[in-house]
Amino acid sequence: MGRFVKIGIMVAALAVTASCRNSDVTREDTSRPAATVSTQNAGDNRVAKEVFGYLPTASNQRSDAIGGYARGCQAGAVQLPETGPTWQAMRLSRNRNWAQPETVDYVQDLSRFAATLPGWEGLYIGDMSQPRGGPMLTGHASHQSGLDIDIWMLPPDRLNLSRQEREDLSSISMRRQQGAYTNSSWTEEHMRLLRAAASDDRTARIFVFPGAKVAMCNWETGDRSWLNKIRPWWGHHYHFHVRLTCPAGDSSCENQAPPPAGDGCADAQTWVNNILNPPPPAPSTGTPAPSRGPLTMARLPSQCSNVAASN
Ligand SMILES: [Zn+2]
Repeated sequence: MGRFVKIGIMVAALAVTASCRNSDVTREDTSRPAATVSTQNAGDNRVAKEVFGYLPTASNQRSDAIGGYARGCQAGAVQLPETGPTWQAMRLSRNRNWAQPETVDYVQDLSRFAATLPGWEGLYIGDMSQPRGGPMLTGHASHQSGLDIDIWMLPPDRLNLSRQEREDLSSISMRRQQGAYTNSSWTEEHMRLLRAAASDDRTARIFVFPGAKVAMCNWETGDRSWLNKIRPWWGHHYHFHVRLTCPAGDSSCENQAPPPAGDGCADAQTWVNNILNPPPPAPSTGTPAPSRGPLTMARLPSQCSNVAASN
């Protein structure tokens, strides 16, 4: 029986690793449950991703990030223009280039900085959120409240990609040795970009593979405070994931607890060491908690019912 549990954990770990290439199924993604107990949508057992996954346009409401990154939705989202002077949105068929206005401003600001870096015309932007946020039919556990952005690691050499090219082009991996180290595609410009992204007050945290975090820890010779927001995580070697804090005035938006104090470099190095020399598996602590199944509308903040039903 212990053996089956162990195999189950290994399978689960493999599933997480495999899915992280296109998604961000992370414990760090799990924010606190909605602070306000939902009454309005109690008993609404519709599966939330099947409600939000097909809504093609933003809600006609005041802009509002609602709930947590992994249990929420967004009202009054805006669409990142498909092409701008220093960015292109990728995979337009997914219709995930929607976010809160603050998030779209952030992307445009960061892309302007990126365009100053040698070899970078700007940024290729991956998934943001669905038009009304919420859980997705495929991929991410987070990206629900209009405050998460996936940014490709591939330096854009042109910003006139056609719709079809944006479906076909792939980003490139930056890792070797299962993420313990960066590979030869990783450059100082990547580090300058991530430093600028993390140094912005709007940023809560950034997810990137552990070898990249250690590379930045070793590279930075000045102020190290920005490293606090760089969080080593599984996957995240084709893109990095920026998570913004709740916009001022969004009263139902739930921030995550800030990262632990300090630059986090020792923890990242430990993670790398464990990749290179895996420790023996921890003894099983018993039966894993039963899955709660897909998020239902009843488990989202009650405002999300209005967001889904709005014009
Ligand atoms: Zn992401």
